[in-house]
Amino acid sequence: IAENTYDWEFWTGPEGDFRYSSPSCHGITGYHAKEFEEDAGLLRRLVHPDDLPAYQAHLAEVRRQPSSVETTSLSFRLRHRDGRIRWIEHTCGPAYGLDGKYLGRRGTNRDITDRRQLEEQLAQAQKMETVGRLAGGVAHDFNNLLTAITGNAAFALDSLAPEDPAREDIQQVLATAERAGNLTRQLLAFSRRQVISPRAVNLNDLITGLDKMLHRLIPESIEFKLILDPQLGSALVDPGHIEQVVVNLAVNARDAMPDGGSLSIETTNLALDRDEAGPYLDTGPGAYVVLTVSDTGVGMTPEVKSQVFEPFFTTKESGRGTGLGLATVYGIVKQHGGSIRVYSEPGAGSTFRVYFPRADRPAEALSGPVENGPLPTGRETILVVEDDTLVRRVAVRLLQGQGYTVLEAAKGPEALELSGRHPGPIHLLLTDVVMPGMSGKELADQVLASRPDTAVLFMSGYTDNAIVHHGVLEEGAAYLQKPFRAAALAAAVRRALDGSPPD
Ligand code: ADP
Ligand code: MG
Repeated sequence: IAENTYDWEFWTGPEGDFRYSSPSCHGITGYHAKEFEEDAGLLRRLVHPDDLPAYQAHLAEVRRQPSSVETTSLSFRLRHRDGRIRWIEHTCGPAYGLDGKYLGRRGTNRDITDRRQLEEQLAQAQKMETVGRLAGGVAHDFNNLLTAITGNAAFALDSLAPEDPAREDIQQVLATAERAGNLTRQLLAFSRRQVISPRAVNLNDLITGLDKMLHRLIPESIEFKLILDPQLGSALVDPGHIEQVVVNLAVNARDAMPDGGSLSIETTNLALDRDEAGPYLDTGPGAYVVLTVSDTGVGMTPEVKSQVFEPFFTTKESGRGTGLGLATVYGIVKQHGGSIRVYSEPGAGSTFRVYFPRADRPAEALSGPVENGPLPTGRETILVVEDDTLVRRVAVRLLQGQGYTVLEAAKGPEALELSGRHPGPIHLLLTDVVMPGMSGKELADQVLASRPDTAVLFMSGYTDNAIVHHGVLEEGAAYLQKPFRAAALAAAVRRALDGSPPD
């Protein structure tokens, strides 16, 4: 039995010298049974120095146990012959002869490295989940407040004479609210509560489109390489969000190389079979598109590495780092059903590898940047549905200011009733996604049933699983991210009315 198990079975003499080791010791340590039998100190030298005191205390305790039925166990780390660290679960008990003489230990060493890795990943994932829920909840409520603050400040600004001294104060309020909005957006991204509209995208095109901006961010002292696989498959992603991932990773790489170095962004296809997917919770077997960002910078210690995705974790001096860059990256990647891994050693640079599930259809063209022009206006009728009174009032006032006829409702049923009794056409339904009772999606479906020509524009700070799976609106659905400003609202409303695709 001992010869045919994956575990390493052993017995020792009274001095702790190995008398027998089963052949599996070779797979676990890289050393053969004979080597353990001939070198009594070998195992002790392989035990991780930090775990050695506990290991030796355990041996002494086994020696003190009065009978062979006692079994004790201990986990420790051991250095494999190839240098890798393995986790061992060591179980053993003392053996006594019929005459009561101590004969040595009998026991098993089991390689539990995979299990330890999974446990660590699970603990990590649970921690991120908890922090994410907290951050997302705060950010969501805060977003509604910001929409009201921004909207009302803008109204106040409009009502002031050009030379009024209060203008500057109100402009400050608006500028500060804008910064607060950026903060909440990042927290929402981290907690995977942003609305995303995925499309089949070629990551090469996306990265090439960012090339100019990246060159502006990255100083001359850093060599910048793009290694793009021409055969790259498409990924089902929201291009705006993935651009943020690329930029955040590139900026971190730059910060890690204050004295210059080399930064590469690489894309490639990858198919993982069951064995290769291996002991990872989040990347199952399947076809992936992989984005790799590597630098030759300062690298990270294991402690830093284990915390990089937490919001507000930063090693940069205050004022320089926000600690939100990688938290945002993490949230975005997860929300897209992807996964991210970090490889880094102090002094040896860092590599971030992002896996996106491969899409089964060709990529669509990416649209260019939107220009800033005068706010578009219109004369159509818009039904605004939003449960937050402050936000609704802002939206209604803005739209009225742009020339539209506006009907308003606080909730789904109220909106349906209004839609039923309104004699004229309703050109657009502008609705919040998350509302008590009836969701924006349900409301839209019901309105469309009786008014099939009505365009729909969703607005949300985030979506919830109850509405759309994992925060993804149906592909192609038009949406507006809260908090919004007049220009964003005007543009999104016009686009939805004119039936052009969202960008
Ligand atoms: P910030 O950049 O604001 O500090 P991030 O979330 O982007 O926040 O990164 C968190 C921390 O992770 C950084 O402060 C740094 O310690 C570490 N880090 C991220 N990327 C790298 C990298 N490429 N090389 C070394 N350390 C990195
Ligand atoms: Mg950063």
